[in-house]
Amino acid sequence: MAQTPFGLFAIDQLVGEEDRDIRDTVRAYVEKEIKPQIADWYEAGQIPARDLARDLGKLGLLGMHLEGYGCAGTSATAYGLACLELEAGDSGLRSLVSVQGSLAMFAIWQWGSEEHKQQWLPRMAAGEAIGCFGLTEPDFGSDPGGMRTRARRDGDDWVLTGTKMWITNGSIADVAVVWAQTDEAADGKGIRGFVVPTDTPGFSAPAIKHKLSLRASVTSELVLDNVRLPGSAVFPEVRGLRGPLSCLNEARFGIVFGSLGAARDCLETAIAYAGQREIFDKPLAAFQITQTKLADMALELGKGMLLAIQLGKLKDAHQLRPEQISLGKLNNVREAIKIARECRTILGAAGITLEFPVLRHANNLESVLTYEGTSEVHQLIIGQALTGRSAYR
Ligand code: FAD
Repeated sequence: MAQTPFGLFAIDQLVGEEDRDIRDTVRAYVEKEIKPQIADWYEAGQIPARDLARDLGKLGLLGMHLEGYGCAGTSATAYGLACLELEAGDSGLRSLVSVQGSLAMFAIWQWGSEEHKQQWLPRMAAGEAIGCFGLTEPDFGSDPGGMRTRARRDGDDWVLTGTKMWITNGSIADVAVVWAQTDEAADGKGIRGFVVPTDTPGFSAPAIKHKLSLRASVTSELVLDNVRLPGSAVFPEVRGLRGPLSCLNEARFGIVFGSLGAARDCLETAIAYAGQREIFDKPLAAFQITQTKLADMALELGKGMLLAIQLGKLKDAHQLRPEQISLGKLNNVREAIKIARECRTILGAAGITLEFPVLRHANNLESVLTYEGTSEVHQLIIGQALTGRSAYR
């Protein structure tokens, strides 16, 4: 009797019953509602994001690890497992949930005023309002401290001017969390976060077209042309990069698990395909070269999961440090994309089509490798933790 890759590692024994139930619910939703349609959405470069957001809200997956304001308040591990199952469907779906819950909602939940929280969080948790998170700019990705978007005071108001780039959910968002430089302090310490309703005059979010990766996800530019906001639009306390980085840590944690979902889907597809495909008069799965590939991939997938579960335990104990999240994001996305590409070889020519998920996952993982801190940035974070020396500049 053949075993599943996670079954080999007896992963279920490491996961509590409640977290397993949440995982199974999300898996069933993805099997029924996402997998039958995802290839078409991907090919068309369109996703019914509003409908999906409502479904995901009903399932309690938006901001699920946050407490209060209509959020489910699950464990961090449950959130990670949900990300894994969503990304087994498509990284675009997991991105929708990550940006909503870990970036936009978390930013408001952690740093917003009570008024911001009351106004936005319950609707966002229900999937009735969609959020985006504008940090990256055309000239500042890995180095967001150099951002040029400016917020200047005009009487009691704030006026925002600038451009954000590569913003997930941008064109469909009802609210944007935008990070901007103020004149309050030099050296990036003046960066502050703003809650921007997207119907504010001067705000626009043209979609970025012609993507070959994350096609089932909306990616946009944000243009802020003298966007006038009341004084209350700013996050009251937090200043400097500490604000946005705290949100990135949340989203990176979800990716530690999520990326393994894409890899698992590829590996399961490759195992099934190799069992059926006859080559030189026997199934491809019966050749030693194929088994070597499958064994190595299952090993990396299982090791990645053990790492993810350890990080989940640390997060649930409020002990997870940023450099530990980097270990998980770097390793698991890097291994996931290797697995996706190796699985593609097992499928031969069939692997290049949308009939199978593997090249779609591999292409998606190119974005996942880059966003939420590139692999190189995570190497630098780990390097700094090991040596005590910063090597960014
Ligand atoms: P760059 O920073 O220009 O990096 C280019 C290369 O230089 C990379 O290989 C990088 O690792 C390397 N590099 C950088 N610094 C160093 C160094 N010190 N030493 C050595 N090498 C270095 N951003 C948001 O704010 N919100 C979003 O919702 C969002 N969604 C995204 C969705 C998609 C599909 C994509 C692709 C990106 C998204 N991003 C988002 C942007 C993402 O976070 C950035 O692309 C990422 O931070 C990298 O920035 P960059 O693309 O400008 O690359």
